[in-house]
Amino acid sequence: MKEVVLSGIRPTGFLHLGNYFGAMRNYVRMQDEYNCYFFVADWHSLTTHPDTKELKNSVLRVVAENIACGLDPEKVALYVQSDVKEIAELYLYLNMMAYVGELEKTPTFKDKVRQNPDNVNAGLLTYPVLMAADILVHRAVKVPVGKDQEQHVELARKFAERFNYRYGDLFPAPQAFNYGTQLVKIMSLDGNGKMSKSENQMATLYLADEDDAIRKKIMKAKTDSGPTEPNSQKPDYIENLFTLMNLVSTPDVVQHYETAFNGCAIRYGDLKKQLAEDMVNFMSPIRQKAADLQANKELLAKIMKAGAEKARASASETLKLVRQATGVNYF
Ligand code: ATP
Ligand code: MG
Repeated sequence: MKEVVLSGIRPTGFLHLGNYFGAMRNYVRMQDEYNCYFFVADWHSLTTHPDTKELKNSVLRVVAENIACGLDPEKVALYVQSDVKEIAELYLYLNMMAYVGELEKTPTFKDKVRQNPDNVNAGLLTYPVLMAADILVHRAVKVPVGKDQEQHVELARKFAERFNYRYGDLFPAPQAFNYGTQLVKIMSLDGNGKMSKSENQMATLYLADEDDAIRKKIMKAKTDSGPTEPNSQKPDYIENLFTLMNLVSTPDVVQHYETAFNGCAIRYGDLKKQLAEDMVNFMSPIRQKAADLQANKELLAKIMKAGAEKARASASETLKLVRQATGVNYF
């Protein structure tokens, strides 16, 4: 039997290269080998984005952009979180497996409290519990995510272990997954934090950005006057440009700039121009395909419905087992 894979993306804005390289690229590679569930995390977005005016558009865009990146809705279950009510039920059970202290200590929670002190809601605190429910509702073992989600997957594993200890072995242990040796983090181009839907928007490359916007953002990326000693270590913002180059440029181009860097002969203006052109070539077909799909609302609705059906079949099976295991079933 194929191993079960789960991952989700919040409909909080435009998808970006961090989402692509941290998550979606892995989804596309995994779809043949694994039994995959990928979802749009609309409930999760309410923890930080309570205004729902843009929600529907964002949900449709996330679905369209995933397909434009190569996801095949025939091969995977591509669905919206709120269409699978079993997730909310499992979330309730798992809340009893999570300690308030450990949730309060989660770095992402502390960050969000700092950013948004006026809306420290309980949903924000229990975000990792809902994420654990997303994963465990399909009894998934591999969770393709970026580096920023690693600790959340670890918490999901803890909650699963506690459940198993109390009620009997039901959940396999989920692991964060990336095809490379480590999880990916694409920094924002100004060197401040990661590329993100909700933050660092001027220094994030969005899949929907027009060619000129891509060029402009890359040309403005943070650099410095270059290394003064051969074979120096790269500052993280320079490393990030090389990471991006590795993702979209040919190996000989990357090698050329590596050699220039190591020999203290690098001209960052040239590197950025090259990176900008390679990036445009990489991104523009995705943007066009996503725009076509977004115009076809009927097709998107059909895909989301079919995805929800597949997801519910798996989720209701798990909830049956959960009710049996906990004894919360009376006839
Ligand atoms: P938000 O700012 O609204 O939280 P986000 O950009 O962090 O949006 P999420 O929906 O939270 O996106 O995450 C979707 C997936 O993309 C997750 O697997 C996450 O780990 C990954 N991801 C997000 N940003 C990056 C990044 N800069 N580099 C690598 N992976 C990333
Ligand atoms: Mg995020």
